[in-house]
Amino acid sequence: MTSTTEELIEISERRSAHNYHPLPIVIHEAHGAWVTDVEGKRYLDFLSGYSSLNFGHGNPKIIEAAQAQLQNLTLTSRAFYHDQFAAFCTGLGDLTGKDMILPMNTGAEAVETAIKVSRKWGYEVKGVAPEQANIIVMEDNFHGRTTTIISFSTDPDAHDNFGPYTPGFKIVKYGSAEAVREAIDTNTVAVLVEPIQGEAGVLVPPDGYLTQLREICTENNVLMIADEIQSGLGRTGKTFACDHEGVVPDIYIMGKALGGGVVPVSAIAADQDVLGVIKPGQHGSTFGGNPLACAVGNAVIEILNTGEYQARATQLGEVLHARLNELIGKGVVTVRGRGLWAGVDIDPSLATGREVSKALMARGVLAKDTHGSTIRLAPPIVISEEDLLRAVDLLADAIASFQ
Ligand SMILES: *Cc1c(COP(=O)(O)O)cnc(C)c1O
Repeated sequence: MTSTTEELIEISERRSAHNYHPLPIVIHEAHGAWVTDVEGKRYLDFLSGYSSLNFGHGNPKIIEAAQAQLQNLTLTSRAFYHDQFAAFCTGLGDLTGKDMILPMNTGAEAVETAIKVSRKWGYEVKGVAPEQANIIVMEDNFHGRTTTIISFSTDPDAHDNFGPYTPGFKIVKYGSAEAVREAIDTNTVAVLVEPIQGEAGVLVPPDGYLTQLREICTENNVLMIADEIQSGLGRTGKTFACDHEGVVPDIYIMGKALGGGVVPVSAIAADQDVLGVIKPGQHGSTFGGNPLACAVGNAVIEILNTGEYQARATQLGEVLHARLNELIGKGVVTVRGRGLWAGVDIDPSLATGREVSKALMARGVLAKDTHGSTIRLAPPIVISEEDLLRAVDLLADAIASFQ
């Protein structure tokens, strides 16, 4: 029996917690950059599962790998080895240039893992006094939803009324290397940074920021942790957003697109002198590094090793940003971003981001607002140039409808 859009939305709202505010569309299937709703209407996907779908919906290589693995082996737990694990750790280690991988499932778990590893490294390698470690984090950060991670969120929605909060974090202004230098003390074990702040509205820090953070961390024997969960794996035109400055963090955090849009796959990558602090029984996950996740991850790594998607994100990114910049002064205040990733600030006197998102949806493009009047654009990197240009025209039309 088929239900109508309205019925499905009504049931979903009645029977699920209201922790999201979805646009009123019920998606049924998707291929490449296109999704189809239950009424058969097609839309271009400009959210890509918050950049989980960098390689497109139903990417044939990834689906083929997943299907083959489904027939063979899906779960072992880490109590045993399985035959996809070595390739995953080697592949991801080589992609990041790091000795070791610690696989988890969701992004938040990988961030938690990086926090735990850097604290343990602080006590056991750096020699920080027990319970005294601190980690420097940035204003307007987004690193996930666990109680520890939201403890250092500056977004009241994410943070308020979820205490008591986990101590041990110092919040400084994003984009200011000086602020980090001033905040560092002898108990600082790590600096945790998004190379581009995604949820905050695709905020690109000043040129040289990451380079300076790298230098400050090295000088002070502090680990630089790059949360590349949203910025990494091709989105910005490089494998990692840190690559734009040639910066190599001590710990990479990956998630989202690592699961190829199929399953949650996350991991951290670091060298032996850092990740070696974790011994049997000290950290883990029942599902982390499972055979299906590793098989999907291996297909993703293979795709990234060709460099095709990075090159395509660069090329299409130039097209996207050139066209978006033409909208400045025509209802658009600012455009930020890198590669196939943009944050577009709409003139707040015209419409909210949500109103523009709805107008855009009515025109066949799915995008999501973030923080008031900002719209984030991040189509699957497989999108055709023609579809990309069409979507920007539809955005211009949607904005014009409020003028
Ligand atoms: C999405 C995201 C996370 C959290 O990932 P989940 O899989 O939702 O837990 C962490 N950091 C950044 C930068 C993200 O974009």
